Amino acid sequence: KIVILRLGHRPQRDKRITTHVGLTARAFGAEGMLLASEDKKLADNIADVSTRWGGDFYVKNDVSWKSEINKWKEDGGKVCHLSMYGINLPDAVPEIRQCDKLMIVVGAEKVPFEIYEMADWNVAVGNQPHSEVAAVAVTLDRIADTDPLRNEFKGGELTIVPEKCGKQVIDNR
Ligand code: SAM
Repeated sequence: KIVILRLGHRPQRDKRITTHVGLTARAFGAEGMLLASEDKKLADNIADVSTRWGGDFYVKNDVSWKSEINKWKEDGGKVCHLSMYGINLPDAVPEIRQCDKLMIVVGAEKVPFEIYEMADWNVAVGNQPHSEVAAVAVTLDRIADTDPLRNEFKGGELTIVPEKCGKQVIDNR
């Protein structure tokens, strides 16, 4: 069970990137995303993708990050904060893999220092600056027991049939 906690989302500026964090989290096997800002439209857009393409991915809009982290830890969950300043991911993977209830925290603008203190792991996906989308994708791929690219998304309106060239989509409606 993996959820993403998205911090610092500014509805105008981060619309595309937060959408991509959510879609990437969904595609790579997270069960949902908690959004620590008010942006119902964005949450609805991601829910629409799930209706179209399957699976049960959810977005919880406008959460308080502090109470979500505290609740998660009270329920026995662990928290992995992704930051370029952290322990490099390959060194943390063996420990993180042992956890069956994981919250992955990603920021946008500067992340409050309290997050670093509350996290069980502060993990860098390589100690170079890049993107929360890339960080989420690589982390979910590296910590997975089975290949996330083989995930099946049940109940969608549309299913892609992989093609060498061209686009084939089955309409299940
Ligand atoms: N300047 C901000 C700061 O110092 O906190 C971070 C900006 S960065 C574009 C946004 C988010 O991407 C970060 O909060 C972090 O979650 C993620 N990120 C960027 N590079 C990363 C890296 N090398 N490893 C892990 N996460 C990274």
